[in-house]
Amino acid sequence: MSLVVSDVSKEYPTRSGTLSVLRGVNMTLERGESVAVMGPSGSGKSTLLHILGTLDRPTAGKIALNGTDPFALPEAELAAFRNARIGFVFQDHHLLPQCSVLENVLIPTLVNRRTHEEETEAYARKLLDRVGLGTRLDHRPAELSGGERQRVAVARALVLKPTLLLADEPTGNLDRTNAHAVGELLLELHKQEQTVLVVVTHSAELAKLFPKRFEMTDGTLQSI
Ligand code: ADP
Repeated sequence: MSLVVSDVSKEYPTRSGTLSVLRGVNMTLERGESVAVMGPSGSGKSTLLHILGTLDRPTAGKIALNGTDPFALPEAELAAFRNARIGFVFQDHHLLPQCSVLENVLIPTLVNRRTHEEETEAYARKLLDRVGLGTRLDHRPAELSGGERQRVAVARALVLKPTLLLADEPTGNLDRTNAHAVGELLLELHKQEQTVLVVVTHSAELAKLFPKRFEMTDGTLQSI
């Protein structure tokens, strides 16, 4: 099983006492499976996504990615694990303005050179072709449309062939047409690459593209 989330809870200490945001989240996703997580603002969706992305630790419970508990790793290994195994797409594209489209996609590969550089670059070009930007490789982010920038962000998230692809409101800044295109692209590429895909969204239109949907309710996930 690629992603197993077991009884994950998260509490934040606050001045007015302990705030219990996640209260026993359970979820299992196999390779090639995807899910959309919905729920009102403040219900804990980003908290869950940060924990799945190993950016934040649960108060209790476990996650396992391909059998590895990332939180059992020493800090330096955890950073390498995150870089190699997890791809992120955010609401804002977070592209580097001074770098070209191709360079932006290659950024994750600079940290952890696992593969031959030429091979990595060929793969980045292939991904950019796949997201319809094969003719925009030398453009800077400012020279792209909003939808195109988000498509670069999708290619960047996939360049290291992650096990887990996480997206936090990936279409939140896009108009309807581009939102639909980016949503379809995420789903197509995750299927093709056989990643696990978890998307957090307010958008019912994006969520309905997913075969599996959960709502965050009282700190747990309910199927909808
Ligand atoms: P969502 O993504 O569903 O809008 P979040 O996961 O961002 O919700 O937040 C869930 C709840 O946890 C909110 O009520 C928020 O105020 C609270 N929260 C988030 N981060 C912290 C923190 N570092 N310290 C205290 N409370 C936090």
